[in-house]
Amino acid sequence: MTDSHAPVRPDRRAELAAGLARVRSRIADACAAAGRDQGEVTMIAVTKTYPAGDVVALVGLGVTDVGENRDQEAAGKAAEVAAAGVTPRWHFIGQLQRNKAKSVVRYADVVQSVDSVRLARALDAASAAGRDRPLDVLVQVSIDGDAARGGALPGSADPDAGLDPVAEAVVGADGLRLGGLMAVAPLGWEPERAFARLAEVAAAFRARHPEATVLSAGMSGDLEMAIRYGATHVRVGSALLGMRPTLR
Ligand SMILES: *Cc1c(COP(=O)(O)O)cnc(C)c1O
Repeated sequence: MTDSHAPVRPDRRAELAAGLARVRSRIADACAAAGRDQGEVTMIAVTKTYPAGDVVALVGLGVTDVGENRDQEAAGKAAEVAAAGVTPRWHFIGQLQRNKAKSVVRYADVVQSVDSVRLARALDAASAAGRDRPLDVLVQVSIDGDAARGGALPGSADPDAGLDPVAEAVVGADGLRLGGLMAVAPLGWEPERAFARLAEVAAAFRARHPEATVLSAGMSGDLEMAIRYGATHVRVGSALLGMRPTLR
């Protein structure tokens, strides 16, 4: 990270511009195929493992929303980006330990990965102490019901990890604002099956929480299918910035 606040080199900027053009055109095509307006879908650039300079360059190219999945990396990067005078909307999209809540609420505009009542409470307390306005929160849902891989469980009465208890905890928290749902297609599922199932969960959820309109779903490999099934936000990393050196 030594020279990570240096502006990106022109060749990197051109690479990012080309990646962005490709992703934007995929989103436009997917919206057209689904009969949806392109303005309904926000692209979040997932910049994990990439330096602050890439974030600054992407914002210069018109990106408004950025996603990170590790607090330690994101906190420093957000500070560097802010020091460069650039203020994207930061989405925290990774598994979050409760002891990191205090740090995350300082730079995140949205936490997309809230999947337990205990985490919602920790974020609420941290938000009340460390922010001047409520934190936007998405409840991460498990599409396959495998609690081990994260995500609240639709239809479960589990008092900590059931989708309804988690949503109620967010709604009842002064420091939090319920924005909607987030999900990752489970490994080994066809994207269509995963996002069709998610769309059912989202429809039922919206009937109970009409104000919670966000559906964050779809990544580099499956964004078209997610858009077909109603995603309002897609989280795109490798198709935009390149393959990450290690899987994480
Ligand atoms: C890394 C990550 C993404 C982006 O994945 P790509 O396949 O690189 O587009 C999206 N969502 C989450 C939760 C991630 O951790």
